[in-house]
Amino acid sequence: MAATTPTETVAFIACHECDALLHERVLPPGSIARCTRCGGLVQRARHDSIDRTLAFLFAGLVLFILANVYPFMTFRLEGREQVSNLVSGAIVLWDEGLPELGILVFMTSIGFPALQIFGLLYVLGPLRFEQRPARHFGPVFRMILAIGPWGMLEVYMLGVLVAIVKLSEMATLAPGVAFWSFCGLIVTMTAANASLDPALVWKKLGAAR
Ligand SMILES: [Zn+2]
Repeated sequence: MAATTPTETVAFIACHECDALLHERVLPPGSIARCTRCGGLVQRARHDSIDRTLAFLFAGLVLFILANVYPFMTFRLEGREQVSNLVSGAIVLWDEGLPELGILVFMTSIGFPALQIFGLLYVLGPLRFEQRPARHFGPVFRMILAIGPWGMLEVYMLGVLVAIVKLSEMATLAPGVAFWSFCGLIVTMTAANASLDPALVWKKLGAAR
Protein backbone atom coordinates (compact mmCIF):
# COMPACT_ATOMS: atom_id res chain seq x y z
CA MET A 1 0.00 0.00 0.00
CA ALA A 2 1.13 3.52 -0.66
CA ALA A 3 -0.13 7.11 -0.51
CA THR A 4 -0.13 7.43 3.30
CA THR A 5 1.86 6.43 6.35
CA PRO A 6 0.11 3.46 7.91
CA THR A 7 0.07 3.41 11.70
CA GLU A 8 -0.89 -0.14 12.66
CA THR A 9 -1.41 -3.50 11.01
CA VAL A 10 -4.88 -4.94 11.73
CA ALA A 11 -5.57 -7.78 9.28
CA PHE A 12 -5.31 -8.83 5.66
CA ILE A 13 -7.44 -7.31 2.92
CA ALA A 14 -7.82 -8.34 -0.73
CA CYS A 15 -7.56 -5.78 -3.53
CA HIS A 16 -10.92 -5.62 -5.37
CA GLU A 17 -9.14 -4.98 -8.69
CA CYS A 18 -6.38 -7.63 -8.80
CA ASP A 19 -6.99 -9.86 -5.71
CA ALA A 20 -3.57 -9.05 -4.24
CA LEU A 21 -3.45 -9.82 -0.50
CA LEU A 22 -2.40 -6.73 1.48
CA HIS A 23 -2.09 -5.70 5.12
CA GLU A 24 -5.16 -3.75 6.24
CA ARG A 25 -4.03 -0.73 8.24
CA VAL A 26 -5.58 1.99 10.35
CA LEU A 27 -5.03 5.14 8.29
CA PRO A 28 -5.06 8.80 9.36
CA PRO A 29 -8.52 10.39 8.81
CA GLY A 30 -9.11 11.63 5.27
CA SER A 31 -6.37 9.49 3.73
CA ILE A 32 -6.50 6.57 1.30
CA ALA A 33 -4.40 3.47 0.64
CA ARG A 34 -3.73 2.06 -2.82
CA CYS A 35 -2.74 -1.42 -3.96
CA THR A 36 1.01 -1.82 -4.39
CA ARG A 37 0.50 -3.99 -7.48
CA CYS A 38 -2.26 -2.29 -9.54
CA GLY A 39 -2.74 1.07 -7.81
CA GLY A 40 -6.44 0.39 -7.15
CA LEU A 41 -8.11 2.01 -4.14
CA VAL A 42 -8.21 -0.51 -1.28
CA GLN A 43 -8.95 1.61 1.81
CA ARG A 44 -10.40 5.02 2.59
CA ALA A 45 -10.30 6.51 6.12
CA ARG A 46 -13.27 8.86 6.61
CA HIS A 47 -13.29 12.06 8.64
CA ASP A 48 -15.12 11.73 11.99
CA SER A 49 -16.18 8.19 11.07
CA ILE A 50 -17.70 7.27 14.46
CA ASP A 51 -19.47 10.63 14.99
CA ARG A 52 -20.98 10.55 11.49
CA THR A 53 -22.05 6.92 11.80
CA LEU A 54 -23.71 7.64 15.17
CA ALA A 55 -25.52 10.70 13.76
CA PHE A 56 -26.93 8.63 10.87
CA LEU A 57 -27.84 5.82 13.31
CA PHE A 58 -29.81 8.16 15.61
CA ALA A 59 -31.66 9.55 12.57
CA GLY A 60 -32.22 5.96 11.41
CA LEU A 61 -33.57 4.98 14.84
CA VAL A 62 -36.20 7.77 14.74
CA LEU A 63 -37.22 6.83 11.17
CA PHE A 64 -37.30 3.12 12.09
CA ILE A 65 -39.69 3.82 15.00
CA LEU A 66 -41.92 5.99 12.76
CA ALA A 67 -41.90 3.27 10.07
CA ASN A 68 -43.16 0.71 12.60
CA VAL A 69 -45.70 2.88 14.45
CA TYR A 70 -47.55 4.69 11.65
CA PRO A 71 -49.56 3.24 8.71
CA PHE A 72 -47.47 2.12 5.75
CA MET A 73 -50.09 2.16 3.00
CA THR A 74 -53.84 2.76 2.69
CA PHE A 75 -55.79 0.84 0.01
CA ARG A 76 -59.15 2.19 -1.17
CA LEU A 77 -61.35 0.01 -3.37
CA GLU A 78 -65.07 0.52 -4.05
CA GLY A 79 -65.65 2.51 -0.89
CA ARG A 80 -63.72 0.13 1.32
CA GLU A 81 -60.50 1.16 3.01
CA GLN A 82 -57.71 -1.03 4.35
CA VAL A 83 -54.69 0.25 6.24
CA SER A 84 -51.50 -1.84 6.25
CA ASN A 85 -48.43 -1.55 8.46
CA LEU A 86 -44.80 -2.47 7.81
CA VAL A 87 -45.28 -5.81 9.57
CA SER A 88 -48.61 -6.61 7.81
CA GLY A 89 -46.99 -8.25 4.76
CA ALA A 90 -45.05 -10.75 6.89
CA ILE A 91 -48.15 -11.61 8.97
CA VAL A 92 -50.31 -12.15 5.85
CA LEU A 93 -47.67 -14.47 4.33
CA TRP A 94 -47.49 -16.42 7.62
CA ASP A 95 -51.29 -16.73 7.79
CA GLU A 96 -51.47 -17.81 4.13
CA GLY A 97 -49.28 -20.84 4.89
CA LEU A 98 -45.94 -19.38 3.76
CA PRO A 99 -44.09 -19.08 7.11
CA GLU A 100 -40.58 -19.18 5.55
CA LEU A 101 -41.42 -16.28 3.23
CA GLY A 102 -43.11 -14.42 6.10
CA ILE A 103 -39.99 -14.73 8.25
CA LEU A 104 -37.78 -13.62 5.33
CA VAL A 105 -39.93 -10.53 4.70
CA PHE A 106 -40.01 -9.75 8.44
CA MET A 107 -36.22 -10.06 8.78
CA THR A 108 -35.51 -8.00 5.63
CA SER A 109 -37.85 -5.14 6.55
CA ILE A 110 -37.66 -5.10 10.38
CA GLY A 111 -35.30 -7.72 11.88
CA PHE A 112 -31.99 -6.95 10.14
CA PRO A 113 -32.38 -3.13 10.24
CA ALA A 114 -33.21 -3.36 13.99
CA LEU A 115 -30.18 -5.60 14.66
CA GLN A 116 -27.94 -3.22 12.70
CA ILE A 117 -29.22 -0.02 14.35
CA PHE A 118 -29.28 -1.30 17.94
CA GLY A 119 -26.09 -3.37 17.53
CA LEU A 120 -24.08 -0.45 16.13
CA LEU A 121 -25.45 1.96 18.76
CA TYR A 122 -24.49 -0.60 21.42
CA VAL A 123 -20.91 -0.87 20.11
CA LEU A 124 -20.26 2.76 19.06
CA GLY A 125 -22.19 4.58 21.82
CA PRO A 126 -19.97 3.59 24.79
CA LEU A 127 -16.87 3.99 22.59
CA ARG A 128 -17.82 7.58 21.72
CA PHE A 129 -19.31 8.86 24.98
CA GLU A 130 -17.60 6.82 27.70
CA GLN A 131 -14.34 5.91 25.95
CA ARG A 132 -14.71 2.28 27.00
CA PRO A 133 -15.96 -0.74 25.05
CA ALA A 134 -19.39 -2.28 25.62
CA ARG A 135 -19.59 -5.82 27.06
CA HIS A 136 -19.24 -8.56 24.41
CA PHE A 137 -18.45 -5.88 21.80
CA GLY A 138 -16.43 -8.37 19.69
CA PRO A 139 -19.21 -10.89 18.92
CA VAL A 140 -21.78 -8.06 18.56
CA PHE A 141 -19.65 -6.08 16.07
CA ARG A 142 -18.76 -9.25 14.12
CA MET A 143 -22.48 -10.11 13.97
CA ILE A 144 -23.30 -6.61 12.62
CA LEU A 145 -20.62 -6.89 9.91
CA ALA A 146 -21.87 -10.39 8.99
CA ILE A 147 -25.55 -9.41 8.65
CA GLY A 148 -24.72 -6.19 6.74
CA PRO A 149 -25.20 -7.74 3.28
CA TRP A 150 -28.54 -9.30 4.43
CA GLY A 151 -30.16 -6.01 5.41
CA MET A 152 -31.61 -5.41 1.95
CA LEU A 153 -33.98 -2.52 2.60
CA GLU A 154 -33.71 -1.26 -0.98
CA VAL A 155 -34.59 -4.69 -2.40
CA TYR A 156 -37.64 -4.81 -0.12
CA MET A 157 -38.61 -1.29 -1.28
CA LEU A 158 -38.25 -2.35 -4.93
CA GLY A 159 -40.72 -5.17 -4.27
CA VAL A 160 -43.11 -2.71 -2.61
CA LEU A 161 -42.89 -0.31 -5.58
CA VAL A 162 -43.60 -3.13 -8.07
CA ALA A 163 -46.66 -4.10 -5.98
CA ILE A 164 -47.81 -0.46 -5.89
CA VAL A 165 -47.61 -0.16 -9.70
CA LYS A 166 -49.54 -3.44 -10.15
CA LEU A 167 -52.22 -2.62 -7.53
CA SER A 168 -52.68 1.00 -8.60
CA GLU A 169 -54.54 -0.26 -11.69
CA MET A 170 -57.42 -1.59 -9.54
CA ALA A 171 -57.27 0.31 -6.24
CA THR A 172 -56.36 3.76 -4.94
CA LEU A 173 -53.17 3.67 -2.88
CA ALA A 174 -52.08 6.31 -0.41
CA PRO A 175 -48.58 6.01 1.09
CA GLY A 176 -48.55 6.71 4.84
CA VAL A 177 -45.99 8.24 7.22
CA ALA A 178 -44.28 4.82 7.58
CA PHE A 179 -43.73 4.59 3.80
CA TRP A 180 -41.84 7.91 3.67
CA SER A 181 -40.00 7.09 6.92
CA PHE A 182 -38.90 3.78 5.37
CA CYS A 183 -37.58 5.65 2.30
CA GLY A 184 -35.60 7.92 4.67
CA LEU A 185 -34.37 4.87 6.59
CA ILE A 186 -32.87 3.41 3.39
CA VAL A 187 -30.91 6.64 2.81
CA THR A 188 -29.71 6.99 6.43
CA MET A 189 -28.66 3.34 6.76
CA THR A 190 -26.76 3.52 3.45
CA ALA A 191 -25.02 6.67 4.75
CA ALA A 192 -24.29 5.01 8.14
CA ASN A 193 -22.72 1.99 6.42
CA ALA A 194 -20.69 4.27 4.13
CA SER A 195 -19.42 6.26 7.15
CA LEU A 196 -18.51 3.20 9.21
CA ASP A 197 -14.80 2.31 9.23
CA PRO A 198 -14.54 -1.20 10.78
CA ALA A 199 -10.71 -1.07 10.97
CA LEU A 200 -10.91 2.13 13.06
CA VAL A 201 -13.60 0.65 15.34
CA TRP A 202 -11.51 -2.49 15.99
CA LYS A 203 -8.47 -0.32 16.75
CA LYS A 204 -10.39 1.90 19.19
CA LEU A 205 -12.01 -1.11 20.84
CA GLY A 206 -8.59 -2.73 21.25
CA ALA A 207 -7.06 0.46 22.68
CA ALA A 208 -9.99 1.05 25.08
CA ARG A 209 -9.77 -2.51 26.37
ZN1 LIG B 1 -4.55 -4.49 -6.85
